[in-house]
Amino acid sequence: MAKVLKAGILGGGQLGKMLLQQAANYPVETFVLEDDPDCPAAHLCHHFIKGDIQNFDDVYNFGRALDVLTIEIEAVNIEALEKLENEGVKVYPSATALRIIKNKILQKQFYKTSEIPSAEFKVVSNRQDLENYSSFFPAVNKLAEGGYDGKGVQIIRTAADISKGFDAPGVLEKMVEIQKEIAVIVAVDDKKGIVIFPPVEMVFDGHLNLLDYQFSPAEIPEKTLWRIEAIAIKVGKSLNSPGLFAVELFIDTKGDVFVNETAPRVHNSGHHTIEANYSSQYDMLWRILLGYPLGNTASILSSSLVNLIGEEGHTGEVHYEGIEEVLKLENTFIHLYGKKQTKPGRKMGHVTLLGKDRYDLVRNALEVKRLLKVISKPILG
Ligand code: ADP
Repeated sequence: MAKVLKAGILGGGQLGKMLLQQAANYPVETFVLEDDPDCPAAHLCHHFIKGDIQNFDDVYNFGRALDVLTIEIEAVNIEALEKLENEGVKVYPSATALRIIKNKILQKQFYKTSEIPSAEFKVVSNRQDLENYSSFFPAVNKLAEGGYDGKGVQIIRTAADISKGFDAPGVLEKMVEIQKEIAVIVAVDDKKGIVIFPPVEMVFDGHLNLLDYQFSPAEIPEKTLWRIEAIAIKVGKSLNSPGLFAVELFIDTKGDVFVNETAPRVHNSGHHTIEANYSSQYDMLWRILLGYPLGNTASILSSSLVNLIGEEGHTGEVHYEGIEEVLKLENTFIHLYGKKQTKPGRKMGHVTLLGKDRYDLVRNALEVKRLLKVISKPILG
């Protein structure tokens, strides 16, 4: 019988929760490190350890007795992971891969040296620095560290926008004329085996900068698909680490493909794989962490996916409106993350829809957005 391994997850958000839902099928004892004992993952792991994932001692002490460690968020203490790696704990993704990805400057330099196509860029150290590159506009200023869900990204069309730029180290990236945004999940095992999931198409909400809905597999010309697959595999190989990596790419109006960024973990763009693919991204990561063969990434049916985001004007104890109506739609699966408090723009859950016809999938996705609302409990009296 296979040995029951001890596996740790740094972070206890919804990604950790969905990873743990899948862990229940494997011989593994799970540990979560997170500050908030009420986080989505806290009640599904065998052992919850309260602590700061950015603190060296907390991460090191958490990892010491484990066989393997992974992350569900990049903002972790890398020095502690390096020490654990040196002491024989498996860290997937590796501390080196994490270090590259965690910092946008290092990540962009990595694409360049690895000959992976990504928009041209300049390294900037502060807001004033942006003035040196007005010939480079229109461009996108990105914070080196700490940005997420579009919060570390500012478009600089002309010199008049410089005041909106970040007064901190980052990159200034050439603006891509985006035709489509695509994400591909790449899985790499510890024997350098590599598989990729079918690409996903993402459609964004211009207002919140959060994903509006996504569709999978993406509808793209065959040659573009081959290009995207080759690039995603190159990213997976060049990072030189076991793990699961979500590669976000742009197809521009000319049909050229550029990598936007990579996440070294399970990702929002892979939620649909729970129902829509033979092996989900969560299943795949357990196979990698526990040293089992990689799974089958093929999609069983097409899918659309809607994120459930806290409504504007609603802050407080969460209340869901429209669950019954949504579940009446064909092949609809609700995932609520179990966060007790909602606030505008917070990711509170998602809904996956399966089907054969793209038109139906998009129409039903929009219907879900209309029917299902995440609000704060109405105050009575
Ligand atoms: P985050 O990691 O915060 O989600 P991203 O780097 O993915 O930030 O950028 C958020 C969004 O900004 C992208 O999905 C895309 O729509 C837009 N964007 C980012 N970089 C560029 C670029 N070089 N050209 C045009 N649009 C961009």
